[in-house]
Amino acid sequence: MSRRFATYVATGMALAVLVVGSLIAVALSKSRPPKPAVASTATSATPPATPTRTPNVHAPASPQRPAPNPTAAFAHGNKKALFLSFDDGPDPVWTPKILQVLAKHGAHATFFELGSMQAAHPGLRDQVLAAGNTIGSHSVTHAQLTALSAAKRHHEIADGPRSTCFRPPYGASNARVRAEIKAAGMVEVLWDVDPRDWARPGTQAIVHRILANAHRNDIILLHDGGGDRSQTVAALDKVLPLLKAQGYSFLAMNC
Ligand SMILES: [Zn+2]
Repeated sequence: MSRRFATYVATGMALAVLVVGSLIAVALSKSRPPKPAVASTATSATPPATPTRTPNVHAPASPQRPAPNPTAAFAHGNKKALFLSFDDGPDPVWTPKILQVLAKHGAHATFFELGSMQAAHPGLRDQVLAAGNTIGSHSVTHAQLTALSAAKRHHEIADGPRSTCFRPPYGASNARVRAEIKAAGMVEVLWDVDPRDWARPGTQAIVHRILANAHRNDIILLHDGGGDRSQTVAALDKVLPLLKAQGYSFLAMNC
């Protein structure tokens, strides 16, 4: 084999190795398993959750670092988990009653609070956290974010309760709202099960709707503010032992 030909062959082989290598790399990147679907988050661009829990009190939202997926860290275990969530508080009458029922049944939850309610009722936020629950933001004043000017939308999202989770009031969202949530270092968190407790359909109806629709890792929407929540409190006290008997545990989201 001439020296020139040998060089030619060697170069050719090196090129072939490069081509095969890059083909394998492309194939590998395509065969990567898809991210687990999390119905709770409306944005599909949610990064995988960090395994460590970062309570909002210690983790100032950083615009540079995307917020963790609030339920993904729990989604891979064998545990039958449900994520209870309570909106529109903190309320001086109803939030302590909800906390009492949760503690009675060894359950935790995530409270999507309003900045205006936090300011009006200082101390309740700390009670919620001290009991092992987490807090998400539900905006400052419960405005419909899709109907606001850019400046007001920014205020409602950026100046609300400190958290990495944000639930838009009425679930009203769009690309602009989601971009603002992301820019504030948070992730949008909606829900899977809505028993419509806010409409006060009766304690038994709330219990039945939860039992009929709750599945593993679902987020359940309830309210600890916005009016008389006695039906919600009573329904919670009834439904928690029934779900526990089915093997469910009740976890606070990573917010
Ligand atoms: Zn609300």
